Amino acid sequence: MRDQHTVSDALTFLDTAYATRTTDLKKSIRLGRKALSIAQNAKDTGLVIQCLNRLSLFYMITGSQKQALRHARHAIRLCEQTGNRKGIAEAHYNIGSVYYKSNNFDQGLKHLLASLRLYRELNDSIQIARVQKSLGTVYEYIGDQRNAGKAYEEAVRIGKRKNDLNLISNAYNPLSGIYLKKGNIKKAAQLINEAIEMKTQTGDTRGMAFSIYGRAKVCMAQGIYDRAQSDLLLALSMHREAGDKLGTGMALYRLGMLFKQQGDPVQAERHFSEALELSRKYTMAFIGFKSNYQLYLLHKAGGDRLAAMSYLEAYLEQKEQVISTQTLKIIEQYELIFREEAIQKKLQSEREKAAIIIKKDRAEQLARVKQDFLSTMSHEIRTPLNAVTSIATLLRGRADQDNGQLLDALDFASSSLLMLVNNILDFTRLEEQKVILHEKPVDLTRLTRQLYQTYLKMAEEKGLHLQLDVQGIDGLAFLTDEIRLHQVLANLLGNAIKYTDTGRISLHVSRKPVDDVFDELSFSVKDTGVGIAPENQEAIFENFYQPPSVTTRPQGGSGLGLAIVKKLLGVFGTEIHLRSARGKGSVFSFSLRLKRVAAPVSTADGQAYHLQGKKVLLAEDNMINAMVAMKLLSRQGIICEHAANGNEAVEKAASLQFDYILMDIHMPQMNGFDAAKEIRSQKKLNKETPIFALTADVTAKHEKDYQQYFAGFLAKPIQVDHIFQAMEDYTD
Ligand code: ADP
Repeated sequence: MRDQHTVSDALTFLDTAYATRTTDLKKSIRLGRKALSIAQNAKDTGLVIQCLNRLSLFYMITGSQKQALRHARHAIRLCEQTGNRKGIAEAHYNIGSVYYKSNNFDQGLKHLLASLRLYRELNDSIQIARVQKSLGTVYEYIGDQRNAGKAYEEAVRIGKRKNDLNLISNAYNPLSGIYLKKGNIKKAAQLINEAIEMKTQTGDTRGMAFSIYGRAKVCMAQGIYDRAQSDLLLALSMHREAGDKLGTGMALYRLGMLFKQQGDPVQAERHFSEALELSRKYTMAFIGFKSNYQLYLLHKAGGDRLAAMSYLEAYLEQKEQVISTQTLKIIEQYELIFREEAIQKKLQSEREKAAIIIKKDRAEQLARVKQDFLSTMSHEIRTPLNAVTSIATLLRGRADQDNGQLLDALDFASSSLLMLVNNILDFTRLEEQKVILHEKPVDLTRLTRQLYQTYLKMAEEKGLHLQLDVQGIDGLAFLTDEIRLHQVLANLLGNAIKYTDTGRISLHVSRKPVDDVFDELSFSVKDTGVGIAPENQEAIFENFYQPPSVTTRPQGGSGLGLAIVKKLLGVFGTEIHLRSARGKGSVFSFSLRLKRVAAPVSTADGQAYHLQGKKVLLAEDNMINAMVAMKLLSRQGIICEHAANGNEAVEKAASLQFDYILMDIHMPQMNGFDAAKEIRSQKKLNKETPIFALTADVTAKHEKDYQQYFAGFLAKPIQVDHIFQAMEDYTD
């Protein structure tokens, strides 16, 4: 019959054997032997090792130590031949368990530690937890509660990580015992109840029997004797049924203690004697000598001196055997344990350090990728946006009233989008501290009027009153970066309108002379909106800050505006102030110390530029942008020549004289920087012609090197007014 079984049958037998070990050990052994003989016949060494180790485990539980050791040692020999470290670890575990359960603690410790070391090398956390649980038991036996607690806790941690209820509850059992010894009955009760709950879920009867035993101990400490008794009897019958000798012995001894505590010496003696007998049969000396001691006390109290003496003798003899010789060995072993612990700790801290370094590197790399992505994306978005705004400007001249309104809407939408894109781009540049100011004389009156015009429509649509209150700057110009200042004020005005539902928004500018050269300009944007709670008044200036209710906010937003305002003002060398109260509105203000300069030619709105007949070379590779720009320029009577890349620009500049050159920076073949450099080094033509860089940025890092070749940098998308203004400023 046997020969008909295959290796896969053997595996099934072995699995079934392992599963039934918690309920029917005899069956486990029977199946294990069957599997072993199949494996041996099939000459499958790996399987033979598995069978040997399993059988060793089953024998150990039934208390047949010799058999258990024999099988485990056999397994180790085979494993060593085949280099099977997992098998060796398992065998050491079994041998260690056999030893400590027969009170040979130093041997137990030695083998369990050997097993732990191998499992750590193999990184097998489930097995580590299992070994730790047993090590905890040994530590407890030798009175080392501290290490016992640590071992159990590691087992619990692993159990939780693996979500393995049996592992957790197996460690909760003894942990509960430790708390009980420490006098923390509440915690002991909590752990043991949780263990029972888990055992109910997993159906592990053997484990359940130990948990019930643990609950009995807690009940005894609480003085609930009837409950303790019924628990112990239950545990006893479960252990007996499963054939677990150690469990049976423990339950018998504990029942003896319970009866003794309740003043029933007859029952107590009966149970101690039974425990003693079992311990003799299955060499469980620990239970044996404790039972001897209790029997000695009982007989002494009962006046039976002779019997008392013989128990005392047996107790002393065993105690000597077990404890004193063991203690010395354990002390030796202890150094080993601590050394092992120290090595583990060092390894652990090195692992943690390495992990931190990896995390940091990854975070930095991620931040760089994010920055690059944002820069590239905003640049890519700006180029088509350029076309949208320019075409809208072109169409405006031909539009009737209805279409005019549509164009207004288009204009507004694209400006908002432009602002957002600019914010993202600026944000990344500000983060990298790449923003430098381009100062030139700025007419603040014109700047504020422009802002007013832009935001008036937006305010009116919400039924808000927009007010411009500018004092003392008419006819004056100041040296500053117009685009950046515009950006700061635009962000503040945009927010004021966004976060106000009724009332008014106002922009105030005032001037206070500091000395002959400098003036102090105060700017403030005031609203009657929702206001900002005191606890948020700092946070709103942080990157990506969004108020907590962001998902329900009707306004939306990127949370970048104020962070940019704060950083930009930092570049200006000043800071932003906020006064606000919830429901009462807000005032954002800042001041700039600016140099007064000769006023630029007044360019009041709608004024014509004097650019009729000027010749311009436009180098731009994007055909739509080029076409749009040329149309816009021709409106002022400018004569435009187009070059599709840097090479073409250099060629055209070598053969025709221009009044101005508009140079896109990103172009194929030759970029704008190099083209400008080439043109500047030419002999005659265009050596002096002002060249304006058209840049959608990201190239800013090169600016410093090339600044000398350019009369100015104009941001894309092209705002035609800016171009005209720049040209006129230059001529003046
Ligand atoms: P967002 O794109 O979210 O508007 P900002 O950085 O511009 O980002 O603003 C950050 C937050 O500060 C806003 O979400 C808003 O809660 C608050 N805030 C900004 N300006 C005002 C204001 N004028 N009134 C009330 N709250 C404001």
